[in-house]
Amino acid sequence: MFKFRGFFLIFIFLLSACTPDTVVPKEKIQKEKIDENIVVTADGKIAFKIINTIKVPQEKVESIKDELLNAYDEIQNSIHTAYVPSETIDVFLNEGNQVSWGLKSKIILYGIKENQYPLVHELTHSLLGYGNNFDSSRGYLTQEGFATYMEDKYGKSKSNAHKLMKYFIDSNKLIPISKLIDLNQDDAYFRPALTNQEEYTLQWMSYIHSASLITYLIDTYGLEMFEQIYNEDDLAKKIEEIYGGNISEIENDWVVFIKNSQTGLTYEDKIKMGSFFTATSVIDQIDPKFFTKE
Ligand SMILES: [Zn+2]
Repeated sequence: MFKFRGFFLIFIFLLSACTPDTVVPKEKIQKEKIDENIVVTADGKIAFKIINTIKVPQEKVESIKDELLNAYDEIQNSIHTAYVPSETIDVFLNEGNQVSWGLKSKIILYGIKENQYPLVHELTHSLLGYGNNFDSSRGYLTQEGFATYMEDKYGKSKSNAHKLMKYFIDSNKLIPISKLIDLNQDDAYFRPALTNQEEYTLQWMSYIHSASLITYLIDTYGLEMFEQIYNEDDLAKKIEEIYGGNISEIENDWVVFIKNSQTGLTYEDKIKMGSFFTATSVIDQIDPKFFTKE
């Protein structure tokens, strides 16, 4: 392939040396290069533009284009929201292992080289909407829980949410759902300053609680009911209205389900997760107030 390319370039060079007006204009080459990194959904509604910052080979870009189209279909077939997504979404493939983001018109992915980028998770945010114009005015629980549920089901970055919940419950580190959905307290759980490992661990635990609870609600009561609480204002009231029980009753049912259905994490599970030991090593140093019921 490389040799053929070299030959081709020489051929172009010779051709251009003789007949300069047949040379492909520079703008056209540039445009083709951009076009090959754009993919449009089958319904024509959204164009994804891949920004290959990390410079992965074109085959990887092609695979990410397919992953975007597949994830788009799966998300379209899940729940429906009133949110109208952006017609163009830029997808950045970035170097390193920082936290990925899914916003209105851009998705920023890390963990590309480790093949651990949460593409389905972030696309779920970008397609279904988050808060009011991607703010935290409607909390985090249903949005993060559902994005992780979708990633677990269709993506490559698995959360092990139920098994981890068993571990947290057995360690006496259950975060009350009432606190995770309290708009005055939820930032401390989901958006801490991340200045120390305790804050990273608390954030990770909050995501796992959300993922496990939302997965439990969907598996038990179905997507149609979940659709009615997704990204809603006054979530506690909404949950009660839709599921016919208050938050603490639902929390109890979920905890019983985890205790009865989950075996503990194996050593292999923990190793596979990569960050398990680092994350859990500081659990006992997290301020107990984050776990106490009020
Ligand atoms: Zn998220």
